[in-house]
Amino acid sequence: MYHHSGNVAQRTAGSPTGVLEPQAPDTEAVFYQRCTWCGTAMYHRVLCPVCRGSELRTERSEGTGTVRHATVVHRNSPAARNVSLIEMTEGFVLRGRVMGPLIGIHSGDRVRLSTAKDPVRGEPVFQLVDEPYRAWT
Ligand SMILES: [Zn+2]
Repeated sequence: MYHHSGNVAQRTAGSPTGVLEPQAPDTEAVFYQRCTWCGTAMYHRVLCPVCRGSELRTERSEGTGTVRHATVVHRNSPAARNVSLIEMTEGFVLRGRVMGPLIGIHSGDRVRLSTAKDPVRGEPVFQLVDEPYRAWT
């Protein structure tokens, strides 16, 4: 079998079909809401932004996504840090930090969840799936 993208193999190997694992600590997974009416995925909402439905069920993300917007924040921090909007494979967008060199993070980069809750800020931390430098050398 030939795969056009390594992403396909990685996704099938990575997550056990979304089955909840009671043993796994919550800090290692991102949970999101999906509207039971229209199927829209969202993050930390109480109403569906599309149909205003309130019947949402919580699902566990497989933890992979794409950088939609990356910014560097200097304010309230001793060192510049990256804050990115990540569009997850399931279709919702959340804000988090991507590890790595600040200049090496761009829109369109594929990332996967490293830590669901940063011990300092409580925000999700991602790591790049593709090594930005190795890919070009
Ligand atoms: Zn909806």
